[in-house]
Amino acid sequence: MIESQALERIAPLRERMARACRRAGREASEVLLIGAAKTVASERLLPFIQSGLHDVGENYVQEGVAKVQRIGRERATWHFIGSLQRNKAREAVTHFDWIHSVDRLPLARSLDEAARAAGKVQRVLLQVNLGEESSKAGCAPHAVLELARACAELENLQIEGLMGLPPYHPDAQMMRPFFKRLRRLRDEVREASGQSTLKHLSMGMTNDFEVALEEGATMVRVGTALFGERVSQK
Ligand SMILES: *Cc1c(COP(=O)(O)O)cnc(C)c1O
Repeated sequence: MIESQALERIAPLRERMARACRRAGREASEVLLIGAAKTVASERLLPFIQSGLHDVGENYVQEGVAKVQRIGRERATWHFIGSLQRNKAREAVTHFDWIHSVDRLPLARSLDEAARAAGKVQRVLLQVNLGEESSKAGCAPHAVLELARACAELENLQIEGLMGLPPYHPDAQMMRPFFKRLRRLRDEVREASGQSTLKHLSMGMTNDFEVALEEGATMVRVGTALFGERVSQK
């Protein structure tokens, strides 16, 4: 795909994002578009970055690291958005600027240790299992505050917000209550944990990003609407 084609995907998406922000009285500039690039090869991803996609999300450490190395760490901001095993903590910390999927204390501790060894402060989001679905990662909504408090003690992690993946529904309006809930949780946890950096809400994908933006998303993770249907699912 050449750059003009990438731009043809990015521009209308940003326009839809801007309209959703306007409806909610928000500034589009306060929202980050993350291209969820699982299964998208480096050669296909690069024109998007060259066309102004600054943020890339990856679900698998091995696939993501290959793209970071191929494309270049400095050319984008790299987000890890998939579920993460503790034994991949060091690699994730080395290659990713943000990790959206911290959902348990042992993982947080491993990331903190890896960040200390790397001499960095790792930006993380706490992932919440909004629908309490057994098929999905994320900590239970009632356990987020405790996790946030424990993470606040870890000096090399900076908790930047919450991430959520609500139960899928073809009608995005049906997902609105989950987005509202994540926003309320963020406000409560920020207040109760005294973590003033806890301000982001990573929520919304191709099917529902407009509703998520109306409900306060500061980061949307969009795959299909940018890159097209995924050919192979891992
Ligand atoms: C794949 C994926 C997305 C993007 O999904 P689309 O429906 O293709 O936009 C967003 N977030 C996560 C965690 C994903 O795995």
